[in-house]
Amino acid sequence: DHPVITIDGPAASGKSSVARLVARQRGAIYVNTGNMYRAMTWAVLDAGIDPADADAVRAAAATLQIQSPVVEGQTQVQVNGRTLTDADLNSDPVNRAVSHVARVPEVRDLLVAAQRALAAIGPLVMEGRDIGSVVFPDSPLKFYIDASEEVRAARRSAQGHTDQVAERDRLDSTRKTSPLVVPQGAIVIDNSHLTLEQAVQQVLSKLPN
Ligand code: C5P
Repeated sequence: DHPVITIDGPAASGKSSVARLVARQRGAIYVNTGNMYRAMTWAVLDAGIDPADADAVRAAAATLQIQSPVVEGQTQVQVNGRTLTDADLNSDPVNRAVSHVARVPEVRDLLVAAQRALAAIGPLVMEGRDIGSVVFPDSPLKFYIDASEEVRAARRSAQGHTDQVAERDRLDSTRKTSPLVVPQGAIVIDNSHLTLEQAVQQVLSKLPN
């Protein structure tokens, strides 16, 4: 398999923008795993299932086909052959429901397997909550991008989202399966007061040539 740079962190820490640019600089495929959990959530809501009903979510997940074709250097997400848009993935209902869907162990098993399979395609920059801790724990290239709660809430509302970032982080950090943690061996970057360019440089400066 190809090398994987892992980038984890809480919601709206700025990790997606950093990961995308690091991938471009390194000629790697950018993988946003949050979008895979969002796609699963979109499909659960589309099927009229209560996202808090773990049994119903588990049953639905087993019937869904989630695919991640690489398009222009990054993975897209498809549910049963339908490509979801950014608007689909980032809607308020999805924001509210995604952390509930992501708690279901069977959902995680399906998506983690799909994430690991991507390393056969090419070098990756993969971002999420459990990439360095669970998906690729043996990667020597792990980062954790953090930012203060204040900065993250401001970033989120500037993007026009009204979801409760703190509530999503609470659910993600306290769940039993694969909670958000700083992965062992990860380099922690505090992105509260860095420009995007500075944060990208910090990551790049830690990588071997
Ligand atoms: O990264 P993003 O904020 O879009 O992720 C949305 C949600 O998906 C997270 O709040 C979390 O519940 C879930 N997620 C996860 N594991 C990942 C990536 C995302 O549980 N690796």
